[in-house]
Amino acid sequence: MVCLDLVRIVWRQTFAQVDRRRLARNARTLKARLGPGVRMMASVKANAYGHGAVEASRAFLAGGADALGVATMEEAVGLREAGITADILVYGKLWSESALEALRHDVALTVYEMQELDALSGAAGSGRPARVHVKLDTGMTRLGVRDEGEAVALILRASRMPGVKLEGVYTHFAAADEAPMPGTGRTSVQADQLERVVARARASGAQIPSVHAANSAALLRDARYHYDMVRPGIALYGYEPAPQWGISHGLLPALSWQTQIVRIAEVPAGTPVSYAGTYVTSRTERIATLPVGYADGVPRALSNLGAVRLRSGCAPIVGRVCMDQLMIAVTDLDARVGDQVEIYGAAGPCGSAQRAADQLDTITYELLCAISGRVPRLYV
Ligand SMILES: *Cc1c(COP(=O)(O)O)cnc(C)c1O
Repeated sequence: MVCLDLVRIVWRQTFAQVDRRRLARNARTLKARLGPGVRMMASVKANAYGHGAVEASRAFLAGGADALGVATMEEAVGLREAGITADILVYGKLWSESALEALRHDVALTVYEMQELDALSGAAGSGRPARVHVKLDTGMTRLGVRDEGEAVALILRASRMPGVKLEGVYTHFAAADEAPMPGTGRTSVQADQLERVVARARASGAQIPSVHAANSAALLRDARYHYDMVRPGIALYGYEPAPQWGISHGLLPALSWQTQIVRIAEVPAGTPVSYAGTYVTSRTERIATLPVGYADGVPRALSNLGAVRLRSGCAPIVGRVCMDQLMIAVTDLDARVGDQVEIYGAAGPCGSAQRAADQLDTITYELLCAISGRVPRLYV
């Protein structure tokens, strides 16, 4: 794998460099905000937000993470096959067809329906019990039990059922990144519901080892939401979950997507650039070509909008982003063929995922996940 990636890097001089120390340091930064005994489950779904699930998981575990969270069984099995033995929870829908696989790989599963419990209990038979976390829908309207009475009943059933081991009860916040509104915001309403259900289930005798709710924004927002465990994702990769708060938590972007200029053309005024000539030079300009495009994950919407970073400054993307290439204007910069260019990297006025996300009215998560498999990851 590593050798193949090195060859791919040499062939195209394009790669996403991932700094393991920064990943580990972000994990330590977040862990330091938690009270004693609060566990941290690193969310490494979607190939660790594009950073590479196996390498990122190892870095987070080294930085103090206690467990890993993924979206699918396939992601969980991928981590196990790479030799990762830490606790893993699958956040997504449990398909009963995957129950045996989950048992074999000792992966914890999300449950929100009685029939899922039945399927797990059956699959476990007299062997190792299936590890489950009951999920509550307290406001996302996505996955989970909505009704509080039903939630209590499911928790009680899970805590008593043979072949099943209830490990946790959790929910997911829908608006933890909104402006902090102590006591009255949507997040505290969701937390109230989680706490009510847990209290009722415990009063009826359920043993609930772990209650958890917090994504990155909730973790950073208020210790009330930490409970027994937190599940950060984006903050571990070095991005603020709520940039609109205008607060820096000392997180370090760990990924630097780099490529090289493969051609520079000096063209007269009036020269159209790229498909449909949506950019036309207004003077003599130097137009550089980069060997990355939307098939690599550069959003086409950055056409005539985004900018990348060169050693000598910022260069705007001019004309439409193509599938495999894009053009930048380097007229006033010291730029040569072979110069290194950063598509996403450290925060700044250009060449950062946060800046591009702001420009496109989206979030860093989407842009990071979009960096495609054609871009080799280089771990340093
Ligand atoms: C993705 C995810 C998280 C992490 O969210 P961030 O906003 O990236 O911190 C936590 N919990 C669940 C269930 C998730 O799906």
